[in-house]
Amino acid sequence: MFRWIDVIKYAKYSNPEPIRRVEKTEAEWQEQLTPEQFRVMRQKGTEKPYRNAYCRSYEPGVYACVGCGSLLFDSKAKYHAISGWPSFTQPFNKAAVKYVFDDSHGMKRVEVMCNVCDSHLGHVFHDGPEPAGLRYCINSESILRQDT
Ligand SMILES: [Zn+2]
Repeated sequence: MFRWIDVIKYAKYSNPEPIRRVEKTEAEWQEQLTPEQFRVMRQKGTEKPYRNAYCRSYEPGVYACVGCGSLLFDSKAKYHAISGWPSFTQPFNKAAVKYVFDDSHGMKRVEVMCNVCDSHLGHVFHDGPEPAGLRYCINSESILRQDT
């Protein structure tokens, strides 16, 4: 199980090696993504709360990165956090996402990015449900649900 201490360790020292790397120019990302996806994923934007695709969706499946198709989260780890965004208790696996300290907007947060293509996904907080206590607060724009 992945815990807050692991998140801090990864953000502070180093994130795990990704299984592969996808790197594109900003022009290529702009071509591939919708304007809203580009704003969220490549410019670290935040979509509107509640009015997004997966906030209240609990269909079974896995969630892949819109940028590179890597598996990021499992619907089994999705829960209702009343935050307005899809929330998960665990990543798909330890190497799926990477963690970076984010001091923007006057807040101390930990940003969550796709470990393969560095797309911005959201943030992780330590006010999630037991036993792990994690809340991955993720933009719907960055993920795509697939049937398993
Ligand atoms: Zn990705």
